[in-house]
Amino acid sequence: MKTSKIGSLVQKFIRKHLLFCFILLAGLITLVFGLLIFNDVTWAHWYYNRFFIPVNTTMQSVLQFSETPFYMVVLVICFVLLIGQIMSVAGEGWRRGLVSWGLFLLSSLVLIVVLFYWLWGFNYGRSTIGEFYFQDEYVTLDTMDFKDRWKLQTNRVNLLRSKVVMPDSTEKRLTQQYAIRYRETIPKLDGSLGLDKRLQPQCKEFVPAGLLLRLNTAGFYFPFGSESYVDKALHVSQKPFVIAHELAHGYGITDEGEANFIGYLLSQASADPLAQYSSAMALWLYMASDGRHLSPSFTQSMWDGLSPAVWDDLQDRQALNERYPEFMPRMRDAVYDSYLSLNKVEGGMKSYNRFVKMVLTYEENF
Ligand SMILES: [Zn+2]
Repeated sequence: MKTSKIGSLVQKFIRKHLLFCFILLAGLITLVFGLLIFNDVTWAHWYYNRFFIPVNTTMQSVLQFSETPFYMVVLVICFVLLIGQIMSVAGEGWRRGLVSWGLFLLSSLVLIVVLFYWLWGFNYGRSTIGEFYFQDEYVTLDTMDFKDRWKLQTNRVNLLRSKVVMPDSTEKRLTQQYAIRYRETIPKLDGSLGLDKRLQPQCKEFVPAGLLLRLNTAGFYFPFGSESYVDKALHVSQKPFVIAHELAHGYGITDEGEANFIGYLLSQASADPLAQYSSAMALWLYMASDGRHLSPSFTQSMWDGLSPAVWDDLQDRQALNERYPEFMPRMRDAVYDSYLSLNKVEGGMKSYNRFVKMVLTYEENF
């Protein structure tokens, strides 16, 4: 085939599928910028300051007029586009229909990836809190020290629980109120953690209640609306910590352990007893997971050391897990496993969860 003929065919294709070509070009630019970002951290910081912050602050101020979770709006848009696509191929031959559906699905996929990276995902290329705040150096406690710290945590959890008056779990504004409280708490945290006060991430309730729990998660960050969600059915004692964790993602934190760490600091600094209890309990459960190889009698004494009120919360949480079981069966959670398989010999401390490591180091050095 002659070059001029190929050229005219390409021109014809571009003219006919202009939107598809435009999305493909955006995909290519995203790929090139991604290579740049993941090879040179200065580009990742350029992206954060010049793109992530202005775009997200604009989105947040535009979308704040409504309390509707933005994922619902996105679902409606997707539905309308799908109907449009079905109607546009109606009456076409199977070959044209196949090409049309192929281009539709491919451009949808590329568009989702492009938007994901530009709205949030390039933060994966930035240096982490572990690198710039902790210089990747963490305290290591020997078994005795860890046991003492865990005991202390048990006492803290019990004390905080005694100060909590559990709010009504059906209170619709609870999630948004906690998000506001945490955003106001940001200035209290160490400025070198790099959380930008200009960002105002939202957190809303996700419905249908229990769906996220069935998917083995409690919440998620939705970059397409610059807001996060927690499952409506989540136990009220868990919600404040999960909200703080999801909000941390809204500040551009990508690592799960680091989102837990920032969520913990926010909850503790918030001066709200329920937030403090919620995050202290989360840390306790991670410590229980870390300490599962310790002697069975010690592990048992830690679980038995939790007050009846804390036990009631744990049982309520378990009841919710049973009410909303996961779609897919999976291995039992390491934390509950640690409680149930108390027949192991003491193995000592091998490694800490990243979240626990960060909290312990922070307590010691900052
Ligand atoms: Zn997360």
